[in-house]
Amino acid sequence: MATTGTLLTSNSPGNKLPRVIILATGGTIAGAAESSTQTGYVSGQMTVAAMLAAVPETNDIARLSGEQLANVGSQDMTFKIMITLAKRINELLADENISGVVVTHGTDTMEETAHFLNLTVKSRKPVVLTGAMRPATAVSADGPLNLFNSVAVAADPQAAERGALVVMNDRIHGAHSLTKTNTTSVETFLSPLNGLIGTVNYGHTRYFRKPFRRHTFLSEFDVDGVATLPRVDIIYACIDMPADLIDGSVAGGARGIVIAGDGNGNMNTATLERAARAAQQGVVLVRSSRVPTGRVGRNVEVDDDRHGFIASDELNPAKARILLMLALLKERSLKDIQQLFFDY
Ligand code: GLU
Repeated sequence: MATTGTLLTSNSPGNKLPRVIILATGGTIAGAAESSTQTGYVSGQMTVAAMLAAVPETNDIARLSGEQLANVGSQDMTFKIMITLAKRINELLADENISGVVVTHGTDTMEETAHFLNLTVKSRKPVVLTGAMRPATAVSADGPLNLFNSVAVAADPQAAERGALVVMNDRIHGAHSLTKTNTTSVETFLSPLNGLIGTVNYGHTRYFRKPFRRHTFLSEFDVDGVATLPRVDIIYACIDMPADLIDGSVAGGARGIVIAGDGNGNMNTATLERAARAAQQGVVLVRSSRVPTGRVGRNVEVDDDRHGFIASDELNPAKARILLMLALLKERSLKDIQQLFFDY
């Protein structure tokens, strides 16, 4: 895409502000509608330079460069783009002159990319994802302040060693805990699992905690040399769910299946039987939950030991899928894969 490496602010030797790189991928923050009160709009219409032009105040807190890695609504985000993003962030953050990175992204799948980067970025420096719920052309667009706050967090040495972060609506979320909870509200991201990492108010940061799970500089996952990831499907449990969805997934070539189970990772008896058969054939079966908070434990109502299943512990189906895809890049026992779900 265009504008790779564009320098957007003064890089003169006299400018001692922290250097932050904005990697733009699209989303509503770059979205445009025909009028300022219209609900329908198209994601990914503005370049990184245009987004930053809306917040000249960012020049007072950092030296910025922008790169346009993609320009898609995040429903069209792909692992190809995510792998490119992780590799580029690793390159950039290895440069001692760069303090942090901000990724602009649609909110629909932001938690998936955040979780992916949390597992694959090899740096202690801040990696911040941000976006907007309202398009750039809307009344009270939220993107400009989100971008300003994200640059402030990425430029802040205190944000280091907290893994990939999502900064939206004055909150600093950790990649493990956050989830999108509202289709339209600016207060859409919550961190119901383990709480917020901190807050940021007009660039003033406060931190409450560091994530206790492994991430970034402590993660064993590496996308160096990786171009594609193994197929893992998600199947959503419900009353009278058709058990042959499992067979369809296996026939389609899935190496793993995540069940978005009822309650504590449950599914009906017919599906359980097919899932056990798939596990015997070597497909890795992870029980997650369609319930937004709480853990999925081993051997609660389902005999995981007997069937050879994995319990997702705290990861929701979309995040469990990403961990499993990365786990399947190398040969591992079921015991080792289960341990990954406790550690990450
Ligand atoms: N579907 C769009 C996206 O995820 C809209 C959501 C947003 O960015 O807020 O890019």
